[in-house]
Amino acid sequence: MNVHVPDNARRDLALVGCPECAFRFETPNYRLGMRHRCPECEAAIKPKYVRRAQDSGYSLSFHTFLQLLTMRPYRDDIVPLISSWFGYTAEYQGRSLFIRNAAGRTVDVENMHEMIQSSPRWQEQLYRKAGKFFR
Ligand SMILES: [Zn+2]
Repeated sequence: MNVHVPDNARRDLALVGCPECAFRFETPNYRLGMRHRCPECEAAIKPKYVRRAQDSGYSLSFHTFLQLLTMRPYRDDIVPLISSWFGYTAEYQGRSLFIRNAAGRTVDVENMHEMIQSSPRWQEQLYRKAGKFFR
């Protein structure tokens, strides 16, 4: 997975480490918890968090985004927001989450997270909605 860093996230870089080769590299805060390709050993990894960026702006980590989508009471507020933007629906089977588009196809949740975090408007709306739980 290639790392695209949107302009609004430039100052939002966290320091992470590769669990395979211990190489350290930077990634936007919002990508914490997502799959990465290690720039050194090229292994597919979930980087270990070393230091979060100080200026995190309105970004949310992928880990937090997943919590918002799967846990109550968060999901009761967050899923309707996602639906109003994209027309997606959420389905829960045990602990697994399936997001589907209007055509019924499964949506990649990491891609959806990237899409939201690449848009300053969506990013801020989600942050404000989530803020009432986390503050
Ligand atoms: Zn590595």
